[in-house]
Amino acid sequence: MSDKDLRFNSLTIHGGQKHEEATGAVMPPIFQTSTYAQTHPGGHKGFEYSRTQNPTRMALENSIASIEGGGFGLAFGSGLAAIDAVIKMLEPGDEVISTNDLYGGTYRLFTKIFSKYGIKFHFTGMADASSVKDKVNANTKLIWVETPTNPMMNIIDIEAMSKVAKEAGALLVVDNTFATPYLQRPIELGADIVMHSATKYLAGHSDVVLGLLAVKDKEVADQLYFIQNSSGAVCGPMDSFLTLRGIKTLHVRMQRHCENGKAVAQFLRDHDRVESVYWPGFEDHPNHAVAQKQMKDFGGMVSFRLKGDSMEDAVKVVSALKVFTLAESLGGVESLAGHPASMTHASIPVEERLKTGVTDGLIRLSVGIEDEADLIADLKQALA
Ligand SMILES: *Cc1c(COP(=O)(O)O)cnc(C)c1O
Repeated sequence: MSDKDLRFNSLTIHGGQKHEEATGAVMPPIFQTSTYAQTHPGGHKGFEYSRTQNPTRMALENSIASIEGGGFGLAFGSGLAAIDAVIKMLEPGDEVISTNDLYGGTYRLFTKIFSKYGIKFHFTGMADASSVKDKVNANTKLIWVETPTNPMMNIIDIEAMSKVAKEAGALLVVDNTFATPYLQRPIELGADIVMHSATKYLAGHSDVVLGLLAVKDKEVADQLYFIQNSSGAVCGPMDSFLTLRGIKTLHVRMQRHCENGKAVAQFLRDHDRVESVYWPGFEDHPNHAVAQKQMKDFGGMVSFRLKGDSMEDAVKVVSALKVFTLAESLGGVESLAGHPASMTHASIPVEERLKTGVTDGLIRLSVGIEDEADLIADLKQALA
């Protein structure tokens, strides 16, 4: 059966996959090899050297292309390595317009590394397309969207951004790490490139660091394959295998993440020590209508601010949790809690993080797939 005939919940398992030819192995073996025998110079079977191609990595690349509905997939040693490859398509003088409520490591890569090479980054809120249009000029080559945003759970209208990008003659890139293609498929909404930290939901078991790109057009994909091979930030076969294995249960895990996320968000909203809860499923969330339009459900990421908004209280609460683990990262089967101001967002200047709402009393939860009642009981005792 071709991918065209399969629905998403089958594509996670079969999309872009075929059984291994030599033995019929159902899962692609971990081809732990750096090189491939040639019968005469140039006489090979499509594989020459594992920086360039590796069969296990290729199975994963075919999978991400399939589940994102893109034509092409590329895998890297981390999410940031994938972002690094995208920005390397640009030249000095080129400009990027990026959302301002952004993963801290992406912000650091843009401002501390690529700014040095003459690429200019504009950061802006993207709730309203006009604030993005105002920043467009002849040098605008790329628009960078992360939605839902981290950690404030703002939702950016991907279709509206794709119109701005087309008018500007720029590429639209969407960091789809938080939503995953189970909830949102940016290429169908007009994006050119979808980026993932597969470290999070796609691999899903907190046991691998890996980045992925899914690309709509061949011309863009060819540029990225050239950079992938030239810069060489590829992932190994073992990590490719683990990520592929994770993707096969993505749809089942995401369904539970969404159910538990909803239960936790509602519990927190009713708690008297909580000032506000950020979760796009609430009808009064400022971008709820956009979330409903472009997402299948609302995900397992929930942020909340304590009454009083103090660093001390937030640290006390996250340290008292027992089922939730205090740790960076997200998207694994186990629930994690983080304190953005001192952890994931510590690399963003204080004025910048306060502008986007990352205050001292903000706590971010990655709600896992444990029993909902245990998660709520844990939050109850920590808040007490
Ligand atoms: C973690 C993360 C990244 C970076 O990915 P790594 O795999 O850690 O390099 C980028 N964007 C988002 C939204 C993330 O959560």
